Amino acid sequence: MALDNLGFSSRAIHAGQEPDPSTGAVIVPIHQVSTFKQDGIGGLRGGYEYSRSANPTRTALEECVAALEGGERGFAFASGLAGEDAVLRALLTPGDHVVVPSDAYGGTYRLFDQVFRPWGVDHSIATVADVDSVRAAMRSNTRMVWVETPTNPLLGIADIEAIAAVAHEAGALFVVDNTFASPYLQTPIALGADVVVHSTTKYAGGHSDVVGGAVVVAPGALTRDGDSVTERIAFHQNAMGAVAGPFDAWLVLRGLKTLAVRMERHCDNAEAVARFLLDHDGVTAVHYPGLPDHPNHDVAARQMKRFGGMVAFRVRGGEDVATKVCAETELWTLGESLGGVESLIEHPGLMTHVSVAGTELEVPSDLIRLSVGIEDVEDLVADLGQALDRLT
Ligand SMILES: *Cc1c(COP(=O)(O)O)cnc(C)c1O
Repeated sequence: MALDNLGFSSRAIHAGQEPDPSTGAVIVPIHQVSTFKQDGIGGLRGGYEYSRSANPTRTALEECVAALEGGERGFAFASGLAGEDAVLRALLTPGDHVVVPSDAYGGTYRLFDQVFRPWGVDHSIATVADVDSVRAAMRSNTRMVWVETPTNPLLGIADIEAIAAVAHEAGALFVVDNTFASPYLQTPIALGADVVVHSTTKYAGGHSDVVGGAVVVAPGALTRDGDSVTERIAFHQNAMGAVAGPFDAWLVLRGLKTLAVRMERHCDNAEAVARFLLDHDGVTAVHYPGLPDHPNHDVAARQMKRFGGMVAFRVRGGEDVATKVCAETELWTLGESLGGVESLIEHPGLMTHVSVAGTELEVPSDLIRLSVGIEDVEDLVADLGQALDRLT
């Protein structure tokens, strides 16, 4: 059966995951090994030589993410940022320019601002919800446009297809961080992205028990010089070595099997939480792409299957009240990260986005971000309600 024709969950459960040929194990084993016996010099079994270059557990995960994103090749890294770093160093050289989003994961912006700018790759910031802002940020040496959608933490929506056109007109590569949506809700390659990156720490892993990253390359993607993007990233993954270890790769692969069912429940719960917040007097704004008055709701409805599990909102009373609400929920755990089965609450200004304080990416101080988990939604709403009723 050709995997390409199967539905999302069939691919998540089977792509890259044939039962083990030597034992019949139905789950890909954790190949916790560094090197492989050769049958005579250069006589590799299945192409495996040394686990930085390739490891069978990691290969299974890489094939699975490529199948889910519709890419020609997937790569698994030790973290989302390690994957981003490999993409940037594989595809850019000093003197190049990148357009980056005005609302982004703080660590991604820090990578551009504090690692790549000193290295010689400059950036301009664009409001990715506005295609004209992206066009205006392009320069003659722009070699890459980078977006997140939905954005972190303000849940802005970038029009992937329209921005792909702007990037490609200028001969630039287009990279989409698909962490918030996951491939279940959105597949950027089908809309024109050349490269998709993920923090698999989040929805892909889904259980807050692993840190990892993935990179997927669109079929046939080429650099300006006509080099294969896949070959460049493959070379850099091995040459720089920030690969996912076998156990971490295995945990992410296990997480992917249930991504579709988890995501449906995350979306159900987030929709209910967003509706509850809209009606609460202590809440001054709710950011969720599923709400009809979200500024790019139509774009989200076109390019996403549903609207995801992340919700942000602002409270009456400013930073003081926002921090107290975060501290006084009981079922919602105060913590960074997102995408796990358990619900998390955090204050972006003082936590995940502290590295962008004082920059153009600074976030409002009365903002609270929720990663809505898959617990019973009545319990989630009741817990938020008790904190908001008392404090706002
Ligand atoms: C967490 C995150 C990253 C970074 O991933 P790590 O696995 O923490 O290195 C990148 N982008 C987004 C949108 C994220 O949420």
